Amino acid sequence: MIPFNAPAVVGNESEYMQSAMSSGKLCGDGDFTRRCQQWLEHRFGCPKVLLTPSCTASLEMAAILLDLKSGDEVIMPSFTFVSTANAFVLRGATVVFVDVRQDTLNLDENKIEAAITSRTKAIVAVHYAGVSCDMDAIMALADKYGLKVVEDAAQAVMSTWKGKPLGSIGHIGCFSFHETKNYTAGGEGGATLINDRLLIERAEIIREKGTNRSQFFRGQVDKYTWRDLGSSYLMSDLQAAYLWAQLEIADRINQQRLRLWLRYYHALTPLVERGRLVLPVQPEGCQHNAHMFAIRLRDAEERSALIDWLKDAEILAVFHYIPLHTSPAGQRFGRFHGEDEVTTRESERLLRLPLFYNLSDNNQQTVINSLLSFFY
Ligand SMILES: *Cc1c(COP(=O)(O)O)cnc(C)c1O
Repeated sequence: MIPFNAPAVVGNESEYMQSAMSSGKLCGDGDFTRRCQQWLEHRFGCPKVLLTPSCTASLEMAAILLDLKSGDEVIMPSFTFVSTANAFVLRGATVVFVDVRQDTLNLDENKIEAAITSRTKAIVAVHYAGVSCDMDAIMALADKYGLKVVEDAAQAVMSTWKGKPLGSIGHIGCFSFHETKNYTAGGEGGATLINDRLLIERAEIIREKGTNRSQFFRGQVDKYTWRDLGSSYLMSDLQAAYLWAQLEIADRINQQRLRLWLRYYHALTPLVERGRLVLPVQPEGCQHNAHMFAIRLRDAEERSALIDWLKDAEILAVFHYIPLHTSPAGQRFGRFHGEDEVTTRESERLLRLPLFYNLSDNNQQTVINSLLSFFY
């Protein structure tokens, strides 16, 4: 069976995890955590990066940092993972879904302004497939209405918008190091990027169970106390050790993924010319990270037929999000502003192909051959 995904394994993970084990300190904020955070800050030009247990936890931190109250509204796409919405609903906020663009399935920047009310506090920019939202338009709207921007960059580590790393543009950015993402911290993991310096001190407190323990460890205060709301949003150093092995060769992983992505792209281009499918696009200004190769079929029926066809060839290809506004909790905690012209239609015909660091050329060729034989 060719799986849809396999967690990246690059070689040094066991050695680094062994070294973390011998250090006598496995909890959060150990040596590997520091190395990863410094690397991420330097690489993405962000003043403060904090490793977390997941992108879900990072989004929750962001929602606490924004001081949301019951009745506040947060704008986001409906075509996203549940955590994007849950993090804000947990604070009592109402989620306002806005339709996505046909080409990228990201928030349609031209439909956001109409959804802004006096209760709107934030916009969550989800960079689907590691392809950037129009961050110029979104930041300009935030500026005009005094809103905060949270980037859900779970899929977008190493992607850029007009040369700027995704996750580093909004007030807060959230990364995922889940095993389905480009880089993993041994299965689960995340990072919060604090780009607005005014939020740094509180972010550290929220992550340390609401205490100023980080300041205590830096010798800035002589005892630490309970200061604010908080939770435990630290990643174990054992996981950071796993992640460090991957960040060390982040460019090599990125290039390998881009190579696989381009190979699909070239092999399937003839099908586009025959009008049989739609391939992913990158609007001007976007440099993606090959997080995903998603094709779009004629409709849901053709997609099911292709999934079955590939399964018979022992290949796993999978569809993606059921739009949140159509789900029971989405209806309870949110509302869709405007017409759903693109979200549902496109989500029903999207199919993701196997794409992961350790996918062999042979296996990818098998996937390509099987796809071509379905269409010809
Ligand atoms: C994967 C993903 C998340 C959640 O990441 P975890 O690290 O599993 O919590 C959130 N948002 C998006 C867009 C994702 O793709």
